[in-house]
Amino acid sequence: DHQRDQRHPQGEGHIRQQHDQRHNAVKNEGGNLAVPFGSVDRRPFFQQEDPPQPLDQLLEEADHHQGNQLPEAHRQADYHHYLGDLIRQRVQHFAQIGQALMGKGVPWSGVDAAAVDALLDAGHGVIKSASEIDAVGHRVVHGGEKFASSVRITDEVMAALEECIPLAPLHNPANITGIKACEKVMPGVPMVGVFDTAFHQTMPAKSYIYALPYEFYEQDKVRRYGFHGTSHRYVSARAAAMLGKPIEELKIITCHLGNGSSVAAVDGGKSVDTSMGFTPLAGVPMGTRAGDLDAGILEYLMGKHGYDMKEMMTILNKKSGVLGISGVSSDFRDLEEAAKAGNDRAQLALDSFQYSVKKLVGAYAAAMGGVDAIVFTAGVGENDAATRMAVASGLEFMGVKMDAEANNVRGKETVISTADSKVKVLLIPTDEELMIAMDTAEIVGK
Ligand code: AMP
Repeated sequence: DHQRDQRHPQGEGHIRQQHDQRHNAVKNEGGNLAVPFGSVDRRPFFQQEDPPQPLDQLLEEADHHQGNQLPEAHRQADYHHYLGDLIRQRVQHFAQIGQALMGKGVPWSGVDAAAVDALLDAGHGVIKSASEIDAVGHRVVHGGEKFASSVRITDEVMAALEECIPLAPLHNPANITGIKACEKVMPGVPMVGVFDTAFHQTMPAKSYIYALPYEFYEQDKVRRYGFHGTSHRYVSARAAAMLGKPIEELKIITCHLGNGSSVAAVDGGKSVDTSMGFTPLAGVPMGTRAGDLDAGILEYLMGKHGYDMKEMMTILNKKSGVLGISGVSSDFRDLEEAAKAGNDRAQLALDSFQYSVKKLVGAYAAAMGGVDAIVFTAGVGENDAATRMAVASGLEFMGVKMDAEANNVRGKETVISTADSKVKVLLIPTDEELMIAMDTAEIVGK
């Protein structure tokens, strides 16, 4: 979910090419992986990139932007938004380096040290000294029922994160290692945890309870948690700002559609339901994840083909979703290309995905007793006009009227419904990094 590959002004060909170059650079780069990170030569990797701008140049640009004739009310917000955007680009740049390093087998702690190293890099870094870092915000996948908002990391918080490991055995240990590594390279610098689950902690019990024996909830904490919370929170807040109304007065359905997808019902600024569940495997079909399915299928397939649980979970997580249906790709660009060329299964995968999202829009409008705005975000939501159209068309009965021309846009905040549409449909690029940075600044500022 973290590989946002479609935020580049130069278009997807460029990005793919960069991705391939990067991939090859990493493959071709020799070297002993066991050496401490400081002695790994990053140059060949950096040379694959356009040289990033130095920070003072970026800030100058931001100042120039602020100086433009923006309406007074928006000036401050837009400025922060723009700054956030610039910083996000830089952070992504470093995140990509981190991913490449992890691909090479460098451990997490090495990646974090590398991130700081890269930030300090004389030619490409954004800061001169680690002492310029006032705080570090960490994205933490699972906060269980313990965290309903972002928190400053303390010993108790670390203990609670350890307790949440069984709920997210793949992600939370990595997040914990990341926090520890940052504490090590930046001793005394405040750390903040921002949880993917926190925003959904406002869901009422009727939304989160599974119809299992109640002790599985009480003792084993089996319930719907929901994920992508930082994204749903960010885009719902931006939607209210775009509509110029207090979020407390709005019913919003947020569709985060990417490699991983989830839909949320946000009533008065609070999440009241969402499609992912106990794990991110639930909800709509995704790139490679199955989404909701009849649990009876597991027993049937495991019995018939002799799969063990691990094999079954690999099928559900990695071989299903639109990839599974189409047999073509998990990438919506490939699916659309294949569908256009007459591949029926690629079309079926798109139809199934779009239909699942549409059904949730209807369900959440019913759950909230109405809807004022529908938001599309993430890789597919921000870039794929056809999917947005397929989800939101046919909903005229509930006051949704799409504007085909306005919808013909990618990756920028836009109202894509007609002026007379009762329900506003919005495209809002998500910005989890900015949200994490803002939470961190707020908490540390206290
Ligand atoms: P995310 O997980 O939010 O980064 O979304 C990544 C996904 O967005 C990719 O796998 C693509 O399927 C999809 N995507 C990116 N660009 C486009 C595009 N121009 N048209 C359709 N889908 C796209």
